[in-house]
Amino acid sequence: MTAYSATLAIDEELRARRRAGEKVLHLGFGEAGLPVPAAVAAELAEAAGRNGYGPVAGSPEARAAAAGFFARRGLATEPEQVLFAPGSKALLYALILALPGDVVLPRPSWVSYAAQAALAGKRTLGVPVPAEAGGVPDPDLLARALRDAPDAGMLVLTVPDNPTGTVARPDHVGAVCEVAGRHGLAIIADEIYGELVHSGARAPSPAEYLPERTVVTTGLSKSMALGGWRIGCARLPAGAWGERLHAELTGIASEIWSSLAAPMQAVAAHVLAEPPAIREHIAAARRLHGAVARAVHAEFTAAGVNCRPPEAGFYLYPDFEPLRPRLARQGIDTGAALAAALLNRHGVGVLPGEAFGDAPEALRVRVATSLLYGDTDARRWESLRSDSPAGLPWVAGSLAHLRDALTALRG
Ligand code: PMP
Ligand code: GLU
Repeated sequence: MTAYSATLAIDEELRARRRAGEKVLHLGFGEAGLPVPAAVAAELAEAAGRNGYGPVAGSPEARAAAAGFFARRGLATEPEQVLFAPGSKALLYALILALPGDVVLPRPSWVSYAAQAALAGKRTLGVPVPAEAGGVPDPDLLARALRDAPDAGMLVLTVPDNPTGTVARPDHVGAVCEVAGRHGLAIIADEIYGELVHSGARAPSPAEYLPERTVVTTGLSKSMALGGWRIGCARLPAGAWGERLHAELTGIASEIWSSLAAPMQAVAAHVLAEPPAIREHIAAARRLHGAVARAVHAEFTAAGVNCRPPEAGFYLYPDFEPLRPRLARQGIDTGAALAAALLNRHGVGVLPGEAFGDAPEALRVRVATSLLYGDTDARRWESLRSDSPAGLPWVAGSLAHLRDALTALRG
C-alpha cells in the first residue's frame, strides 16, 4: 500500500491536535500561509462560468502567459512548449512515468519524488548534496554514482530547494548539468520556489545549462500561496525530444486529469502575465518569508544547532548533531525520535530528515516557517505589510515557543 505523503500527513495531524486543544507550533508543512489578493479572487469569480474542459495542455491564453513568464526569465518559450495541470505534483509524476529509466535524486530531497518513482515502478538513487546548498547533488559524487547506474534515466533538481531552503550556485548547477548531459540523462528542474529567492535574485535554471533535455516545472502554490487551487505548469524544451515528450505528457494528462480546471487557467493567465500588483504581492511575500525564516534560523543557531542560513522559500534543515550526547541521554538517537520528541514533549511539529531520503540516524529535521504568519486573513495581511514581522505578537509568540522547546530539549 502506498503510504500517506509525510507532508500532508503531518499537516492533518497537527491541525487535529490543535482542534483537540493541544498547543502545537506548526512547523511541519510547506503551505505558504498567505491570503488571496482580492483581484485574484475576482479573476476566479469572473471565470466561474467557464465550465468546458478545454484543451488538455491548457487554454491558448494561459499557455501564452506562461511562455511570456519563462521568456522574461531568459528561457525563450513558445506556447506549444507549455502544459498546465492540477498542481506541479501531477506533472512531476507524469514526467517520471513518461521518461525512461531510473530516477536520480539529490539527498535529501522533497518527499514526493521518491514516492512517485516507487508508484511508477522505478528505482531511485540518492546522491548527497554539498554542505553549501541543497537541491542539486555534489557533481563528483553524481559522476561516481552514475558509473554504477547504467539504468539511470532522469535527474531531479530542486532550485531553490525544499527541504534546505537554499539556492544552488550557478557553477554548481552547471557542473551537474554537464555530468547529466554526458550520461544522456533528462533533467526535471523543479522551480516551484523560483520566485521566492529572498534577495530577489534569479535562481539559476538547469534549462540554461542543458536546454535540449531539461523540463522545468513550476506553479502558483508557493509564490502566490494558491496551493489549494492546484495550478501547476511545465515548460518542455524546444526541439524534437521536447515535442515527443510533450505529446507523451499530454497523452498521460488526457487519460488522468483531462485538463487544469478552466477557471484556474484564467487565474494562471492573469498571474503569469505579471501585472504590477502581482509583482508587488510576490515581492512582499518574499520579504516576509525571508524575515521569518531568518528569525527561526536564529533560534536554532542560538541553541547550538547547525543550520544552513535560509536563502529562498520557507524552509530550514537544522542538524542537531552537536547536541547528540545530550539527546542520547534522553533516548533520542534518530531524526524520527527527534521529531517525535519535539512534538510529543515540546509541542513543535517538524518532519524527520528520513522523510526526505536522509539517513535515519542523522539528527536532522525539516522545519517549514510559512504557517507562522497568523491564523486569520487580517493577521496574515498585517504580516505581509509589516517591516518587522518577527516582532508581531503572533510571530514573536511562536518564536518564544520554539526557544522554550529548544532550551528544554538541550536539558
Ligand atoms: N515541488 C516541491 C519541491 C514542493 O515543495 C512542492 C510542494 N507542494 C511541490 C513540488 C508541489 O506543489 P504543487 O503540486 O502544489 O504545485
Ligand atoms: N510541498 C509542501 C511541503 O513540502 C507541501 C505540499 C505537498 O507536499 O504536496 O511541505
